[in-house]
Amino acid sequence: MIILVLNSGSSSIKFQLFEINEHEKLLSKGIVDRIGISGGVLKQCVNGVSKKVLESDVPDHTIGLKLVFDNLINGEFAVLKELSEIDAVGHRVVHGGEWFKEGVLIDEEVKKQIADCSELAPLHNPANLKGIMSVENLLPDIPQVALFDTSFHQGMPERAYLYGIPYKYYEKYRIRRYGFHGISHKYISEEAAKLCNKRLVDSKIVTCHLGNGASVTGIDGGESIDTSMGFTPVTGLMMGTRCGTLDPGILLYLEEKEHLSIKGITDMINKESGLQGISGLSSDMRDIEKAALDGIHRAKLAFDMYTYRIRKWIGSFIGILNGIDILVFAGGIGENSFKVREDVCRNLSFFGIKIDELVNVGMCGRSGIISASDSSVSVAVVNTNEELVIARETYGILNKN
Ligand code: ADP
Repeated sequence: MIILVLNSGSSSIKFQLFEINEHEKLLSKGIVDRIGISGGVLKQCVNGVSKKVLESDVPDHTIGLKLVFDNLINGEFAVLKELSEIDAVGHRVVHGGEWFKEGVLIDEEVKKQIADCSELAPLHNPANLKGIMSVENLLPDIPQVALFDTSFHQGMPERAYLYGIPYKYYEKYRIRRYGFHGISHKYISEEAAKLCNKRLVDSKIVTCHLGNGASVTGIDGGESIDTSMGFTPVTGLMMGTRCGTLDPGILLYLEEKEHLSIKGITDMINKESGLQGISGLSSDMRDIEKAALDGIHRAKLAFDMYTYRIRKWIGSFIGILNGIDILVFAGGIGENSFKVREDVCRNLSFFGIKIDELVNVGMCGRSGIISASDSSVSVAVVNTNEELVIARETYGILNKN
């Protein structure tokens, strides 16, 4: 079965094309970027070779997707003879509200529900819907499946997902912790259990997905029991440009002192905070690590604040889980930065977490175990692969229906 996976953002469409049978094969991947902005570009990658295939303005998502389709069947990066070879399309959708506890086949009702969740994820869900509608325009009869970043966390108990504000706001507006990165947290916990030769159903796992956005999840027997992101993805860990958990009183204070508008506050907590806000230099961990090595104090401070907060969340989840069998790192930072992993784990020895420093240094961009032989907790690095999960689940859902 040939499955196209789409991750549609407000100005980009990332795609991966898989062949899923008894074997799983990535046929092609790429991105159309700068949709709706001048200077659009399509980059494609086949067999590890990556190339800018096209540079021209891409006015909307349907035109962007048409470019992807054209280049899947024509030119030097063609991998299909005709588009009818594609059996299904799987979409990453950020917010599924309380409706979606698992992936679904998309129909009119599902599209309406995704649109209804747009209020909760105004930057993401409308873009995800554009991806779905573009496929409908170009390949009207193809089955489409949606997988949600929120689904994995839908089993959290009420005590974990409710906030300590009047209950009526949950009843009226569904204000609660939703959690995100669920597709990744689920995948990396499963992969880590396999790597460590442990049964998922018997394991207490803490997963750290550390990319530009970052979150930590406590997983008991394969179920998410609590997670650091909340009603929105701005809370929890300190991130590249997002502030993470904050005393809400600060926002009220700043609103008064700086006369910040809602837009000003939204930008401050989402785009001007985190590594960027503290260092004043960059939101990119590679830049922060380099500047810290060069002795720039605020870069070192940003690094320390970043890892301190991860430790704090890991510790709280160990408390809630009443133990830990596996600690997992993933995402651009979790998979590549041995310094972040080393610093996070350094002060967790009380829990029996001990990494092999040499193995840790050598673990970059691949999956493996980094715990020392005398560590009572397994520590694993897992290359997350959300697109593969979406392709697999799309395959599963279509074969069930
Ligand atoms: P996104 O959340 O946008 O998918 P990624 O998972 O790609 O982001 O993670 C991006 C982050 O990973 C950036 O902060 C980047 O600096 C960091 N990163 C990538 N490679 C390294 C590396 N070798 N060392 C440290 N950080 C890295």
